[in-house]
Amino acid sequence: EKKKLQHIADRLSVTPDGKALRLEANISSIKELEIALASGANGVGLFRTEFLYMDRNRFPKEEEQYEVYRSVAEKLSGEPLVIRTLDIGGDKQLDYFELPEEDNPFLGYRAIRISLDRKDLFKTQLRAILRASVFGQVKLMYPLISSVNEVQAANAVLKEAMEELEREGIPYDRGIKVGIMIEVPAAVMIADLLAQEVDFFSIGTNDLVQFTLAVDRMNEEISHLYDPFHPALMRMLIQTVEAAKKYGITVGVCGELAGDLRALPIWLGLDVDEISMSAHSILLVKERLLGTHQKESRLLLQELKACRTSAQVIEKLEAFKNALDT
Ligand code: PEP
Ligand code: MG
Repeated sequence: EKKKLQHIADRLSVTPDGKALRLEANISSIKELEIALASGANGVGLFRTEFLYMDRNRFPKEEEQYEVYRSVAEKLSGEPLVIRTLDIGGDKQLDYFELPEEDNPFLGYRAIRISLDRKDLFKTQLRAILRASVFGQVKLMYPLISSVNEVQAANAVLKEAMEELEREGIPYDRGIKVGIMIEVPAAVMIADLLAQEVDFFSIGTNDLVQFTLAVDRMNEEISHLYDPFHPALMRMLIQTVEAAKKYGITVGVCGELAGDLRALPIWLGLDVDEISMSAHSILLVKERLLGTHQKESRLLLQELKACRTSAQVIEKLEAFKNALDT
């Protein structure tokens, strides 16, 4: 099936009525980058840097990280590369970094919280990213943001890293774009405030569904309750995109839902700028994009807004999809 789609890898990612939607890749290894490039990805919307820290016995040095970021940036030849700072804790552990035993690790010591606690580790990563930023269109993204304070604290460390490089005469992109993941309900509720602090939002539906519905994303016992089409999610997506548009920043989606064919009219209806997904999904989503009108997606979204249950949302999305299939 994917072989048959290879010929559209070089086509522009545009709907028949002219809406450009960037189709980017989530990568967490160099191998996935190769798949993304072969699929004609419009860049990397989420570079999960955890793999650099895993399967080893100490934290990676600045130089090691820089080499990897630089090589990925160069391979993308000018297409955007969103590098997310370390997102360990929760389900991801490191052998050499003792994390506390926690009753609720997903609500615990993880992601940006670790970075702001261990500014030495954080600054090392920021320096490596900054140094790589002159080799492509590199953007920086913070995970698990839940307050304006966290963004400001992270940016303060970023500023220090920039000043250091400045003093050392090491080049970096002074205009580097800085964004955040929107994956905590609090961030959605204050999206208008956060939009004034950053250059872009990327909605992480994996964690956002988990936290909004209070359903552990790893717990199979309750996986039937893990429901990305819950009307609460629909409202959160709408509110986040509205805030981004009001303050003129770009907004994308990088959770699993971004690669779900059923969800495509939601993104077109909301008029987001990019969606980032598993590299394997890009050609399938692209084929669908080439045949989906934004105008019809907008109308569908109005209907989805009025749905009272996820069953109704899914029914409408599947009817829309089936009409395109035939
Ligand atoms: C998300 O939470 O949706 C996301 C993209 O990040 P991760 O899956 O790495 O938590
Ligand atoms: Mg997440």
